[in-house]
Amino acid sequence: MVRGAALANEKPMALALRGTLLTPLAEGGTQFEVDGLLLVDAEGTIRYAGPFRGAGYRGAVDDVRPNLITPGFIDVHAHFPQTRIIGCATGPLLDWLANSVFPEEARFTRRAYAKAVAAELVQRLLHAGTTTVALFSSSSPSATETCFSALAEAGLRGLVGLTWMDRNCPEVLRITTPSAVAASERLIRRWHGFDHDRLRFAVTPRFALSCSKTMLRRAGDLANAHDLPVQTHIAENDREGEATLRAHPYATSYLDVYDQAGLLGPRTILAHAIHLKKRDWDRIGESDATVAHCPDSNFFLGSGRMRLNPPRSRGVRVGLGSDVAAGRSFSMRRAMGSAYDNALAVGEPVAPSELLRLATFGGAEVLGCAATTGSLQLGKEADLLIVPLARAAANLDAALASLIFDTDNLGVLRSYVRGHRLF
Ligand SMILES: [Zn+2]
Repeated sequence: MVRGAALANEKPMALALRGTLLTPLAEGGTQFEVDGLLLVDAEGTIRYAGPFRGAGYRGAVDDVRPNLITPGFIDVHAHFPQTRIIGCATGPLLDWLANSVFPEEARFTRRAYAKAVAAELVQRLLHAGTTTVALFSSSSPSATETCFSALAEAGLRGLVGLTWMDRNCPEVLRITTPSAVAASERLIRRWHGFDHDRLRFAVTPRFALSCSKTMLRRAGDLANAHDLPVQTHIAENDREGEATLRAHPYATSYLDVYDQAGLLGPRTILAHAIHLKKRDWDRIGESDATVAHCPDSNFFLGSGRMRLNPPRSRGVRVGLGSDVAAGRSFSMRRAMGSAYDNALAVGEPVAPSELLRLATFGGAEVLGCAATTGSLQLGKEADLLIVPLARAAANLDAALASLIFDTDNLGVLRSYVRGHRLF
């Protein structure tokens, strides 16, 4: 931490915010300052995060008290082409895909449609206070390009993947393995590492049921050749699990389908992970893969309830996903509330400070950007929110209660990535 005397002699900062500071800490625990100060330099790097008094900062400050200054939310799992179908109650999973998702995703071969929805997506992410997001696109390369462009222009941070699928889907959504590889390689050249790694490409086989063994193998090869993140779904629904083992009879479990394809490793994000056995969790732990916990989606489709203890006890990194459009909101505040309800329902309650960690720093760990974002700490990039609370918070518990549960108004006042104001 920069000492007060040193700060007093420095030039004014690009951003000097005085407000109630709430952040998880990389080393564990949570920092709360009812009267806090956050200083950000011209490069967008945090130079101070701590109590206002004692900082010795004499430059002008933007006083946002009693609003909360907190890290930008990190949504580790959502679907760009499902933005307009939130709330379609046609589940469970396989029926919902057939009746609501596939007909909508088929529209994304039309560039104008994709562009209009991408603009809506960005507005909704900004309003929700999400500053980093991992998105599935559709199987359309041009829609994926459009999604990248929209995030680039909005200043958001994220991963985007072309969704690979060559079976068990309508013809219009099918993409062959050679086409998927070629389109992905073009997108990697154009977008992977864009703006100092603000955007990255993720290899995205939709799920084992929609991909042939050959396609999954090639996805694994591509990810390993370029050190790319991988995102997919696993063990979301019982019927899906049974169908997956029929479609991939060589595999000993759902997880083994991905394992045999070389898709399991430290850059892998597995969404849902509800119906897994102990040995699957052991293997996830060994491979250092990560998990996207999507409780609101799991409630909406009646998929089941993921427990947090199996990954936690193995040191598996876990983040929180809205999973729009099976999730009913882009708001990570709502996702935190659902994660709380889910934890109660499985009899393993979770503390509010842990929910905030899941929605911020935990997500950064899952996406491989925890050194850069996810908490408001010295030397990190300034991805943050200013959030109005229903009541001014006098202590940590009150701040968490307001942020997570008192959410009649889910919006944020402002958001920043690297110190640049987005909203
Ligand atoms: Zn999903």
